[in-house]
Amino acid sequence: MEIITRRQRLHSIVRKIRREEDKTIGIVPTMGALHEGHLSLVREARRMCDVVVVSIFVNPAQFGPGEDFDHYPRNLTGDTALLTDYNVDYIFAPSVEEIYPKGFSTFVTVENLSEQLEGAARPGHFRGVATVVTILLNVARPDFAFFGQKDAQQALVIKRLVRDLGFDTEIVILPTMREESGLALSSRNAYLDDEEQRAATVIHRALALAEAAYAHGERSAKRLAELVRTEILTEPRARLDYISVTDADTLEKIDKLDDHTALVAVAVYLGRTRLIDNVVLQPAKQKARVTVET
Ligand code: AMP
Repeated sequence: MEIITRRQRLHSIVRKIRREEDKTIGIVPTMGALHEGHLSLVREARRMCDVVVVSIFVNPAQFGPGEDFDHYPRNLTGDTALLTDYNVDYIFAPSVEEIYPKGFSTFVTVENLSEQLEGAARPGHFRGVATVVTILLNVARPDFAFFGQKDAQQALVIKRLVRDLGFDTEIVILPTMREESGLALSSRNAYLDDEEQRAATVIHRALALAEAAYAHGERSAKRLAELVRTEILTEPRARLDYISVTDADTLEKIDKLDDHTALVAVAVYLGRTRLIDNVVLQPAKQKARVTVET
């Protein structure tokens, strides 16, 4: 395994792999502080691709003013040790200046899909995500790129970006990995104290209630949202930032779920830590929907 810090070095390695060896390349973009959620993506990349690149870059462009960029957990040594066990070929861990050199002035904006939910709560967030992912796809020229359903809107934004700009990369979206308590794994869980960690389990409980109500025939978006809101209110340490029920592909608000595949997405504060999670509610006849899309 080689740790690469320069765009140029990664670019020339992949150019050689593509030219001289008939191998597929997969990339797993991350911000590090790796956990089992990230590792599930790495495992799938290892299974599907000949050469696996994991990028570790805490991307300043996707953090707003007053957010946790400075405090975001960073642990390149620990991450490297983990990835060695997973047989990763390359870690791409560039500096901020390497990705955004002096004079950097080109940004990528995915309209519409970026504007609601996380985009509304964190203005500029998806512009930062889309820009860095564009750079990573250009540098690594992967056949496959792996992302988690945990960041459902991010997955949609990236699929749209790849389609609109004509990248020759297949986007693979993998399920959310959870603790036994149901809490979605996240690097930000490291901010939680023991009490907050316990309190945070309300998020998944609330989403599971919506899932159960849906399974029993509830199709009103308003009532499903109300169920989630009420459950989260039972936990005094949790503060709901938003609950949204939208079409899972367009993120447009819906009143009745009926034929829609719906995304129920929440952002919840535990103290100063903001966590997001979601469930997808799918009409039975659509359940075989594939999650791999180009
Ligand atoms: P991050 O380091 O938070 O930017 O996440 C890097 C990638 O890992 C993104 O595609 C996330 O959606 C994915 N990811 C984060 N948490 C999880 C999780 N609990 N389960 C599955 N994928 C995840």
